[in-house]
Amino acid sequence: MSTDIFSETLAEMTWYEVEQAARDGAVLLWAFGVIEQHGPHLPTGTDVYIPQARLREVKRELKERGIPALIVPPYYWGVNVVSGAFPASYRVRPEIIRELMADVFQSLEGDGFQRVFCFSGHGDALHNRTIHEGIRLGASRTKLDLSFVIDAALATRLSIPLDDPHLTLPPGEEKPAGGIRFFQVNSSSPSAPEAGEAPPRYIDVHAGRWESSMMLASCAGLVRDEVRRTLRSTDLGPEDLAVWRKGFEDARRTTPLGYFGDPAAASADEGRRTLKSAAAIAADAIAARLAR
Ligand SMILES: [Zn+2]
Repeated sequence: MSTDIFSETLAEMTWYEVEQAARDGAVLLWAFGVIEQHGPHLPTGTDVYIPQARLREVKRELKERGIPALIVPPYYWGVNVVSGAFPASYRVRPEIIRELMADVFQSLEGDGFQRVFCFSGHGDALHNRTIHEGIRLGASRTKLDLSFVIDAALATRLSIPLDDPHLTLPPGEEKPAGGIRFFQVNSSSPSAPEAGEAPPRYIDVHAGRWESSMMLASCAGLVRDEVRRTLRSTDLGPEDLAVWRKGFEDARRTTPLGYFGDPAAASADEGRRTLKSAAAIAADAIAARLAR
């Protein structure tokens, strides 16, 4: 558990250690979050804290598979469309993000690294499209193997073909499948139901049960728990989600309190399970790419 976003990243290492890791063939893990409102109970850095917690797990999972990895300090000035009408939700133009990504990729290549696996901490479609475009720009300017670790559901929502060379998909998801998948590598989908549990009736996508659980598991001290327990489930479905995704005032009207889901149903246990399973899926996906 850590609220330190540099924790276990290369920002805690010396240049000697980073250089040695590159020589040892370490892969890089880099998360792209955003500072964004997350309801009355979660901090605005939620989409940075959660992916960092996930990457620390991914690093451990990779180590178990014999793959050395370093975590790049998080990128957190992303794109906000959905929460754009709320305070404390900041937007950067996609072209700025793409160019920044390409510059950092060039620096990492100069250090001798060969592979960067990018992750998203934020479900906004334009944010994720921008990460994918930044990866493509970086690939055109370097010889690095750059890819976006995402699930097929998000790639499909972004209209990125599943055979795109810059995607690292969970093994078995490389071909289109019907229906909604109930697990996630990114923050695009609701959390996994337990075996035998019915898929949730209402959608839980933002600062609800799923994200609140992961925050309770990784950064409990930042959750306003006395508030969280009093919040009522939004009980919103797919039609509401479509309106909410239009963003700005449409989103604020759909979810005036800023959350979409059921935060009171969250638990640290569920958060630990979700982080662990998402990390194992990501590590399998990375290992499969390295084996190709
Ligand atoms: Zn979030």
